[in-house]
Parts: sequence; C-alpha cells; structure tokens
Amino acid sequence: MARFAYVVYCTNLGCSHRAEYKIASRWSDGVTAELKTYGLVCAECLPQAFRESIRKQAECRRAPKEILEPPGIYRLAPGKGDLELERLFDLEDQLRSSMNLAPSDLPTGQDREEA
Ligand SMILES: [Zn+2]
Repeated sequence: MARFAYVVYCTNLGCSHRAEYKIASRWSDGVTAELKTYGLVCAECLPQAFRESIRKQAECRRAPKEILEPPGIYRLAPGKGDLELERLFDLEDQLRSSMNLAPSDLPTGQDREEA
C-alpha cells in the first residue's frame, strides 16, 4: 500500500530537521489572495527565520493595489491547503516581543546581531 508520505524539511541552510512551521504573509492584489511563503522551518530555526521574514516583508515593494500583510506563523499540516493552516498568534506575539529587545536597546557589551 502506497501511502503518500509528506515530509517537509527545514529550509534553513544546513539544517536537516523536519519543518514544523510555515512563515508566510497573506498577499492580495485585490483580485486573488494567497499566502506568500518565506520559509518552512523547524522550531529551532523559527525565531531567526521569523525575524528575517519581517525584514523582507518590510523591504518588499508593492504595486498600489497590492496588499502584503506582516508575516505570520502557521503550523504545517500535511494535506492542508495554505488557507486552512492554523495560525499561531501566541507564538508570533512571543517572538515579536523578544525581538523588541533590539541590540541598540541593550546595554553595551552585548553581542551585536548584524550579520
Ligand atoms: Zn531548522
């Protein structure tokens, strides 16, 4: 019996864990809407990938009618369509609030996070 195995791996370079989360923004041009995916990541890579997605979303140029919402975190579920995925608002809040501690807000002596 061939059952469709649906295994997704973390898209972070060098990581071989299974992806558990999808980071994506709702995008619309006024006619169609879809999720624009930034990455599929494991729990370990999530904070970094989420931070990067926020930066990319902010830099993304949009046409006048285009809407691109801030990135959200969705729980990957095999066989579910993008718009059916469960969005993890609590996790987003948690990560966003930990990000508010920008390096410039911290006392000197902290490692800088510029890559
Ligand atoms: Zn990973």
